[in-house]
Amino acid sequence: METNDFIKRENLYGAHNYHPLPVVLERGEGVFVWDVEGRRYFDFLAAYSAVNQGHCHPKIVKALTDQAGKLALTSRAFYNSTLGEWEELMAHQFGYDKMLPMNSGAEADETALKLTRKWGYKVKGIPKNKARIIVCNGNFHGRTITIVSMSSDPDSYNDYGPFTPGFVNIPYNDIEALETELMDPDTAGFLVEPIQAEAGVYVPEDGYLHKAAVLCKKYNVLFVADEVQTGLCRTGKMLACDHENVRPDILVLGKAISGGMFPISCVLADDEIMLTIKPGEHGSTYGGNPIAAKVAIAAIDVLVEEKLAENATRIGQLFRDEMMAFESPLIAEVRGKGLLNAIQINPFEGKKAWDLCLAMKENGILAKPTHEHTIRFTPPLIITESQMREAIGLIQKTMNEFV
Ligand code: PLP
Repeated sequence: METNDFIKRENLYGAHNYHPLPVVLERGEGVFVWDVEGRRYFDFLAAYSAVNQGHCHPKIVKALTDQAGKLALTSRAFYNSTLGEWEELMAHQFGYDKMLPMNSGAEADETALKLTRKWGYKVKGIPKNKARIIVCNGNFHGRTITIVSMSSDPDSYNDYGPFTPGFVNIPYNDIEALETELMDPDTAGFLVEPIQAEAGVYVPEDGYLHKAAVLCKKYNVLFVADEVQTGLCRTGKMLACDHENVRPDILVLGKAISGGMFPISCVLADDEIMLTIKPGEHGSTYGGNPIAAKVAIAAIDVLVEEKLAENATRIGQLFRDEMMAFESPLIAEVRGKGLLNAIQINPFEGKKAWDLCLAMKENGILAKPTHEHTIRFTPPLIITESQMREAIGLIQKTMNEFV
């Protein structure tokens, strides 16, 4: 079978809920992936920042295969010998009393919303069913009905109503709007992405997160950080909140917590919040399974041992410097932090970001538009300087060929 045969089969038998680039991948190693015809590509999406540690990292593969042959799933009806080890590591690494494991990022966000409401009723004393959670326009927290109820993107919410009530949308990066809503005594939490990645890599003003966290404390409202995409070294620190020394009351992690090996997510919080959820009130059959525990432990080890935060800072700066210095009518703006970057594209003779991504693919770079005119550039964090220079050369060559 060739590329087109694979694509035809997926289109025929699979739901059309994605619009992939026409490339069929069958192998990955480090920063590279190979298609079914043996062509090699730089992976500049890294599965939306899940593959921070690089494809098929040997340490994470070993953790997966060792545990898969021993014990894969017990459910939480019983204790298992690995979950506690992972929970202890996470509590120490991130500085929280407890962790709650789930599978997808959306599930972890749902968990955070439930914790926020429960805390609002049990600890803050908000009247029954009155809890409000503040969210930002442009947010992306996943695809469940409750989560799309918070979305300001019609592609996310259109035709999926009726929606879950209890959310208040404010502009992102707007401290005054936040304070106005925090004053309502029924407000339980403020859910925020430290950088809005899916929206197009929008970095808020320096100090925004810090000011927001201080205000949340002042009004006794939980500061809930969705670091599913920004977390785990992507922006040059273990957490994007670390840039402003902010410690969220609830921290949501996913994606790279498994290095792309397996769907794993989790929520971290202190006892006052976490213990409001009682046995039988929340969970997931696969959440906290033994393979997930061992994979996540290995994935965190790799981030720390290989100093991937430092690498993200250094190589990300190189990317932005080189792309900002490069003169092309296609580039409207280069923005980002660490290795979470985006280029805003000027449409050229009717051609858009999508067309540029198709052309980059021909030159060996895989990247994907987010919205119509933005391309996200988020390679695995293990990328070396020489690999980045080679990739920048290919991106610039494509842009030159395009105009
Ligand atoms: N939160 C953020 C910030 C995300 O970027 C994403 C996915 O892109 C999610 C949540 C949802 O994660 P998942 O696709 O694993 O449900």
